[in-house]
Amino acid sequence: MDKLELNTKAQELRELLGEDANSPVDIFSLANHIDKLTLVFYPLGENISGMCVNDSEIKLIAINSTMSYGRQRFSLAHELYHLYFDGGSGFNVCSKRFESKSENEKCADQFATYFLAPYKSLRAEVRKVSCDSLLSLPQVIALEQYFGMSHLAMLWRLVNEGYLSSDKIDDYNHGVISVSRKLGYDDKLYRPTPPELMKRTYGHYLKQVEEMKNRDLVSSGKIDELLLDAFRDDIVFGLDGDVQGAEVID
Ligand SMILES: [Zn+2]
Repeated sequence: MDKLELNTKAQELRELLGEDANSPVDIFSLANHIDKLTLVFYPLGENISGMCVNDSEIKLIAINSTMSYGRQRFSLAHELYHLYFDGGSGFNVCSKRFESKSENEKCADQFATYFLAPYKSLRAEVRKVSCDSLLSLPQVIALEQYFGMSHLAMLWRLVNEGYLSSDKIDDYNHGVISVSRKLGYDDKLYRPTPPELMKRTYGHYLKQVEEMKNRDLVSSGKIDELLLDAFRDDIVFGLDGDVQGAEVID
């Protein structure tokens, strides 16, 4: 699939999920609205960014929570490609590296960058931050902060679109967090998930457990066991700070 086709697919999925064509997206919130999808955050090891299972019984995406928040956003967009557009096996384990991948994995990466930063809106933002063709590190940071994309994914995308020369990648890979702080940005994009939230399950699985509980289908001990299997001790033991009867502070 060529770039144009992948950008079109990214636009199609944005539309399907109720997003407009150009704005930055809250991808985790969008994924939570996908019917029957279970989303798992888990430390998947050094080399794996995510996984996707999509067959007649299970629709599951797992994201490596030890990677930065920006990279997790990118990984989720990559896995959405497997979920919606990959006609392959229905089971994918995805490598963290951007280089030396299969064609299918490269397509998923390209799709992910277009989903987070659509072709036209990236071009418009590049024009806003830079009057000449040479993007500086602070300008690259401004772009990734706007679209919520990991630093490395943004560098590769800019090289791919001809906005940056590939020999800048190494230079621009140092001091990113400190430069972004000095520019007034939150450094959340560059940080992994806090340790206490690194193992978590969201979405369909939780809804199913709640339904079993409401319909009295299994014992309360079994419900607790199912929740603990999904790393939701916060629900079993009420550890989430929002204990029974406490009001939400909005
Ligand atoms: Zn993949």
